[in-house]
Amino acid sequence: MSQLLIIGGGITGLAAAWEAVQFPRVEVTLIDAQPRLGGKILGSAMALPDGQTMMLDEGADAFLCRVPDAVQLCTELGLESEFTHPAVGRAQVFVGGELRFLPTDTVLGVPVDFEPLAASGLLSDAGMERARSEVDSNWSAPTGDVSIGAFLTQRYGRELVDHVVGPLIGGINAGDVDTLSLQAVTPQLFDAAAGGGSLTLALRKQAQRAAPLPNEPVFTALLGGTTVLVEALHDALEARGVRIVTETEAVSCALSGQDKIITELTAGSFTADEVLICTPAPSAAHLLGRISPETSAQLEQITYSSVALLTFVFDRAAVACELPASGFLVPRTAGLLMTAASVGSTKWAHWDDGRHVVLRVSAGHDRDPRGVELTDQELADGLLRDLATTLGITEAPLATRVSRWPNGFAQYRVGHLELVDSLERSLSRDCPKIMLAGASYRGLGIPACIRQGRSAAARLVDG
Ligand SMILES: Cc1cc2nc3c(=O)[nH]c(=O)nc-3n(C[C@H](O)[C@H](O)[C@H](O)COP(=O)(O)OP(=O)(O)OC[C@H]3O[C@@H](n4cnc5c(N)ncnc54)[C@H](O)[C@@H]3O)c2cc1C
Repeated sequence: MSQLLIIGGGITGLAAAWEAVQFPRVEVTLIDAQPRLGGKILGSAMALPDGQTMMLDEGADAFLCRVPDAVQLCTELGLESEFTHPAVGRAQVFVGGELRFLPTDTVLGVPVDFEPLAASGLLSDAGMERARSEVDSNWSAPTGDVSIGAFLTQRYGRELVDHVVGPLIGGINAGDVDTLSLQAVTPQLFDAAAGGGSLTLALRKQAQRAAPLPNEPVFTALLGGTTVLVEALHDALEARGVRIVTETEAVSCALSGQDKIITELTAGSFTADEVLICTPAPSAAHLLGRISPETSAQLEQITYSSVALLTFVFDRAAVACELPASGFLVPRTAGLLMTAASVGSTKWAHWDDGRHVVLRVSAGHDRDPRGVELTDQELADGLLRDLATTLGITEAPLATRVSRWPNGFAQYRVGHLELVDSLERSLSRDCPKIMLAGASYRGLGIPACIRQGRSAAARLVDG
């Protein structure tokens, strides 16, 4: 039997283990430093004053359907009966002191058709005219990677970036579109621009060719919360003989004379034939410091942003405003602490008990460390002030929960994919039986993490 050690029991490591057990003659051991599995997938029950509890996600609450790996994995685990989709799909942006709906007919905020953008009121007349002019120029294709902000500002003007694309993509990545990579973060835009000419016309052609099925959901969630996927994987892996060890940190990897990899752990060591590292990049850098210093140095170049996510539960009777959207985004130019708010009780039918309003509100991003620096009280006070500004809610919440995500989001800066290609090459040269996978490398959404974990596990044990 060949011994596979998977380091990191977030969704990437769990999906990797699930893939590996499909291969005969492989014994799989998965270790995690924390007492629980799931990494950045976490949920907990919020207690309300009337004794009721609500089970609410503290991080990811859904996954994209367009990248099919998460839906497929859930299906393999028999979780289809848990599937649900947003009751309301459209989000708003807080611009000019008002909440306005994001336009339809865009790809990540880039207009495929200009009329819905014009009707949204998110751009001034001059901003709209500048954006429309994108179709009139003979643009050449980008010659290499570039920041999303620089690329789209040149094409459409700054207002589209500040009011639409920045809040949307910056919000998803807790990052700054002026440093995030067009190629790594928005490959749809990079690929569409690759043919040269207008991006809007290229996206329009793509949309005409693709003709999506009507009413196809964009997101899927699980009725019991995203942790249901983690629990199902845990049970399925144990049932298939995977050894799962928590509260055990991997400290460093070394090569033995017999073509084995010895991983030093906080308690003892583990000798494996193959090792798959599914931890964030800083931890991977530490693990590989001795056996592949070049890979380790490259891993250290990947930086992170930190956020706080506060969940507020209000008495519905006390909330006077309409809440028609799934949530809203706040541009940096608005000068608020809040970067986004998800109206959980509007977005998800299973979070709506008819008596409460659930809001999940985020603070902190790549250029704003307040998500980790402020105290819980300062965060709650600041975000409640912002809710008064944006929604007009002035009542005190019935319950508040603060979830911190220090170094929660890898920042894919310009040149990120080149860096990842390069560090994978140096690792494969120095230690061909060790691989890396996870949110630091080729996509940080849950489906992309699952895809990376499964593909790396298959290549390691089948290669
Ligand atoms: C607030 C928030 C909201 C999000 N919302 C969404 C969403 O709605 N939809 C979506 O698709 N994605 C979302 N994401 C992104 C997604 O949740 C993460 O990118 C993904 O879960 C990361 O999985 P991972 O396994 O690669 O890494 P992690 O979850 O970070 O797991 C890594 C694991 O490695 C362990 N570890 C680290 N070092 C060691 C070591 N030396 N030894 C042993 N174990 C170690 C850690 O304890 C951890 O369990 C969100 C992320 C955050 C932070």
